[in-house]
Amino acid sequence: MAHSKLQDSTASTDSIANGTAPAGKVKDQAAHAAAEAGGSALLQTYARYPVNLVRGHGSWLWDDQGNRYLDFMSGLAVTNLGHAPEKVKEKVKAQLDTLWHVSNLFGIPQQEQAARLLTQVTGADAVFFCNSGAEANEAAIKLARRYHQKVKGEERYEVITFEQSFHGRTLATLTATGQQKVKDGFLPLPAGFVTVPLHDLEALKAAIGPHTAAVMLEMVLAEGGVYPVDKEFVQQVAALCKQEGLLLIIDEVQTGMGRTGSWFAHQQYGIEPDIFTSAKGIASGLPAGALLAKDYLREAFTAGTHASTFGGNPVSAAAIAATIETMLEEQIPERVKEMGEYLQQRLREAFADQPFVKEIRGLGLLIGIECAAPVAELVTAGQKNKLLFVTAGPNVIRLLPNLKVSKEEIDQAVDTLAALINTHTAAALAEKEENQ
Ligand SMILES: *Cc1c(COP(=O)(O)O)cnc(C)c1O
Repeated sequence: MAHSKLQDSTASTDSIANGTAPAGKVKDQAAHAAAEAGGSALLQTYARYPVNLVRGHGSWLWDDQGNRYLDFMSGLAVTNLGHAPEKVKEKVKAQLDTLWHVSNLFGIPQQEQAARLLTQVTGADAVFFCNSGAEANEAAIKLARRYHQKVKGEERYEVITFEQSFHGRTLATLTATGQQKVKDGFLPLPAGFVTVPLHDLEALKAAIGPHTAAVMLEMVLAEGGVYPVDKEFVQQVAALCKQEGLLLIIDEVQTGMGRTGSWFAHQQYGIEPDIFTSAKGIASGLPAGALLAKDYLREAFTAGTHASTFGGNPVSAAAIAATIETMLEEQIPERVKEMGEYLQQRLREAFADQPFVKEIRGLGLLIGIECAAPVAELVTAGQKNKLLFVTAGPNVIRLLPNLKVSKEEIDQAVDTLAALINTHTAAALAEKEENQ
């Protein structure tokens, strides 16, 4: 059996090497996909915009044609201190001159320092470093299972998550994600996940069973449409977890590191999660993620139980430490609170009489503008007008400026956005009249 499988895979490798695809329909599809790739050697997993960004500084990016853009997406909530922040750059450069990588089998002082700083600004006691948000959430799921099974001696493994949530693209985290589109074609999904509607405490209670290990949620459904979760509901979930002996995991991959006006969003919700996760903005643009946990969970992750080759590598760890030091010095979370209010207020003024804009919501500098129709065209129109932003679902514009953005830059972005939406709605209206 194993042998014939091996032969099969050898045969298909040969046909690729010879430039021949399997016969028939598959061949047509393959030819079509290759044409779509337009000569690119990359798998086309991203619908990329026809813009190549080559340089960045602060809130600004330049493309390979010399055009300058105002960046209100920050690499999707990653470059939180703006592009190439000075202090982080200096620390990373110094680290590159000294040592790039050592195995986690040795002590890594930069990692110790980054972890110390993270525990100083949060209620967490212990940190595990990895490379991405999905990897941090995967670690959180593993930690919750192992805590119940090895420390508590209970056969608990199930994690309850919420509809419209987003937790990542690994098999476990896409199963945890409450959106069907990320699961299509990836069956069978791993067992041990249940999804319930958000803001429905009874549904959550009904989903809890003898195998439930944890409840995992975001404080703002970011990918799911920029919906801040109701504070009272979050507190009820936290109380329920305590009562039922379940671990509470907060996914702060997008909402953490100052983005919402506190170091981590859950600090505004008056709860103390057992575990929370971070990535995106944690290293100002270098790849890094972290799992943060309470003291009593240390017992579950003992030597040899979990690992990551690159996790907390000296360069990434130096970037994390420098990011936090900069945020402390410049009081970034407090600043975000103020600038977030300013941005929301400016948007409300700009769109007070614009029926296309249905709602403006968010927390700190994670802002959603719910519109009356799909907004994909507005994103490309924005690029033509040198303003970069993203969506969160079909009808929601998502604004993610860096956390040091100035009032002048906010004013400029709001003015551009208002002009874009006014032009867009006027054009749509004219088209409608023409068709009548
Ligand atoms: C982006 C994101 C993830 C996945 O992070 P990756 O680094 O892309 O793996 C998980 N959860 C939330 C809330 C996110 O926004």
